[in-house]
Amino acid sequence: MIIPLHGENRQTNMEEISLNLHIHTRYSDGSGTHEEIARAASEAGLDVIITTDHNVLVDGKEGYYTFDGRRVLLLVGEEVHFQARHPQKNHLLVFGTNREMATYAPDVQNLVNQVKSAGGSSFIAHPVDPALPMFGEGDISWEAWSVNGYTGIELWNGFSELKSVVHSRLDALWYAFSPHYMAHGPLPQTLKIWDNLLAAGSKVVAVGGSDAHALHKSMGPIHKTIFPYKFHFSAVNNHLILPNPLRGDLAYDRGAILTALARGNNFVGYDLPASTRGFRFSAHNLHGNAIMGDEITLEDGVTLQIKLPENGEIRLLCNGDVVREWQNTTNGALITTQPGVYRVEAYTQFLGKRRGWIFSNPIYVRDNKTRRRPNDYK
Ligand SMILES: [Zn+2]
Ligand SMILES: [Zn+2]
Repeated sequence: MIIPLHGENRQTNMEEISLNLHIHTRYSDGSGTHEEIARAASEAGLDVIITTDHNVLVDGKEGYYTFDGRRVLLLVGEEVHFQARHPQKNHLLVFGTNREMATYAPDVQNLVNQVKSAGGSSFIAHPVDPALPMFGEGDISWEAWSVNGYTGIELWNGFSELKSVVHSRLDALWYAFSPHYMAHGPLPQTLKIWDNLLAAGSKVVAVGGSDAHALHKSMGPIHKTIFPYKFHFSAVNNHLILPNPLRGDLAYDRGAILTALARGNNFVGYDLPASTRGFRFSAHNLHGNAIMGDEITLEDGVTLQIKLPENGEIRLLCNGDVVREWQNTTNGALITTQPGVYRVEAYTQFLGKRRGWIFSNPIYVRDNKTRRRPNDYK
């Protein structure tokens, strides 16, 4: 008897929600209150936001916020790092633990283990994060690569990318006033690290993070809020695919969202050039369907299907190598007989440049012999 793998019984009419994460409030070095940030998210049309202040799990702020009849769900995680460490490295985004994790910061492996045993998930924040000396910003990349057991990485971090494109004070001024020109895609080094981890057999979930602070900066007579929250919320978002619609019930919805995020049932979408809502990447064999984050067995062949919400460039990758490209289209499909880790990138033209638009989580196509039993997923 063939026992379906986790994910092979996926329905096709699933629910998509938009989620922005890695947001700082006044509880650390952001400029906004939870209420102000929730309002900005509502105005940007988001469904869910997750705030992550430095080394503090803020109490009493989770819940639905309603503005002009539109509700947005605010969840609270934290960004944990060892503050006594110099130079500053190894920032970890932590979700769903229900208790403070900052006390475990000095030992990164122990921190990851504690998050797991508290039922939470952990994501390496800004894995590659260049220095910006002219503004006193150091390199705060991840260095603890020997650590294992984390859920995933922040593939596309808005602030790291800013640091990578600013080479002078004039650049900084330009992007402060024209933030929509900034984003081009995840840093190539981060993509490479992710592909290497995936090819080595790890399940590593990708998320997009804003690292939103909405800092008030002054340069001479010019005073400016750098990257307001609402700007971030219209830019790099996560699009989660859920088996059922949200109910408006905090406990249920929180569980469904954090579970889908930890499984990688999401794609990272840069929504500024064009909405990425409606993107789909799925796999099909004789026994059922799988979506991003799922595993599927090869059987006699697996059909991979890609759908863009509007015309763009599609790249299908297996174990980090491009196996197929499509130009100026909304659809791609490929029948594969090769096991491997398959993921999709889509690009679009925006403000005169080719820019990263969609980065999917992988579908893990397993060899028939190495398939796991359903109990392995409990
Ligand atoms: Zn950080
Ligand atoms: Zn941060």
